[in-house]
Amino acid sequence: MARGISIKPLVLILFLVVTVLGAAPPVQAEPLRLTGLQLGLNAGLTRLVVEASGPPAASLAASADGLGLLLSLPAMRWAAPAPTITAGGLVAALGLPVSGPDGQLGIAIDLIEPAVVERAFHLAPQGGRGHRLVIDLRPAEPNAFAAAFVAPVHLPLDSVVDIAPPPVGTPGERRRLIVLDAGHGGQDPGAISASGRYEKDITLNVAKAVAQRLRATGRYRVLMTRESDRFIRLPERVALARAREADLFLSIHADSLSGDRATRGASVYTRAEAASDTEAEALALRENRADQLADGMPVNEVDDVVSILLDLASRDTARLSSRFAGLLTASMGETTPLRRNALRAANFRVLSAPDVPSALLELGYLSNPADEALLFSEAGRDRLAAAVVGAIDRFFGVDSR
Ligand SMILES: [Zn+2]
Repeated sequence: MARGISIKPLVLILFLVVTVLGAAPPVQAEPLRLTGLQLGLNAGLTRLVVEASGPPAASLAASADGLGLLLSLPAMRWAAPAPTITAGGLVAALGLPVSGPDGQLGIAIDLIEPAVVERAFHLAPQGGRGHRLVIDLRPAEPNAFAAAFVAPVHLPLDSVVDIAPPPVGTPGERRRLIVLDAGHGGQDPGAISASGRYEKDITLNVAKAVAQRLRATGRYRVLMTRESDRFIRLPERVALARAREADLFLSIHADSLSGDRATRGASVYTRAEAASDTEAEALALRENRADQLADGMPVNEVDDVVSILLDLASRDTARLSSRFAGLLTASMGETTPLRRNALRAANFRVLSAPDVPSALLELGYLSNPADEALLFSEAGRDRLAAAVVGAIDRFFGVDSR
């Protein structure tokens, strides 16, 4: 049911009014070039990607009829062929970019139903793509839509518009508990690099580096699912986080693709019954396979209990997981190359705690020589660990930048 591009006159008039009356942005000597616009679905959210010659800033405002949005891009000019964008997700139609006063570009977004920004973040140039602003929208009640767009929302967000970060701990209050899960261990080496090195060693070293940095802040308590080379079943990792009422669970991994030396970069995953794409689904199968190595270990029924509870899980846990994953993706992107579509979802068993916000980080690819070198160097691990800590700080509302 793809509809063509349409521009609503009302929305355009509103855009001009807002632009003329609104505060002018600082004038840049050289306007950025808008080189691409993409619309798609990502982990159940509607994703709009704005690609430009430099890191794009933007604002989103509600349109006059209350069922649309207006994306304003200051100091930007359109420098690409007309986009062939059709409807997708929550978006019924996307207008052509229209130049306004002060060098702003305005893009009208017709929505099928009210929506709010779940997250918005920058991605650095990579793999032939330029600077990108990624905006994920999710459906909202009309009231929430109205409340979210009382004033234009400036993008990228450091935090989600309508979900307050967990309150920052005051002195004497309980410090946040972070459970760090170093993937694999013992008889399960995880992925193996071209030169024969093991994922289980990388995950442990990075988890230790993250733990050290977190503890050094004095703001967190840190628990590791393993601190040595030993095997732990996936349900036990989940159970530890739940039993200790962790505030955040992060599972750390590194992937490998046989016969593919080119693919590199970090990616971040949340749990979803239906995978965001076939590649994420295949990865979840690989990571879930770890438990098949549990020779002679008692198999209990924790998994079934967890999956039943998951159905009853509060939406807050899923939203917080999503929010953390978005922050982690943005933070990793400032430090290391990211995979294309770096934020994905699949049915990872290790992310099945219904009451603990959880995400899984794939640091990179052991099958790629550059990633392998990065992951096995102390300097590389330290940079990755710093990026993880930055995301955790932002998640808990601590601005450490
Ligand atoms: Zn793994």
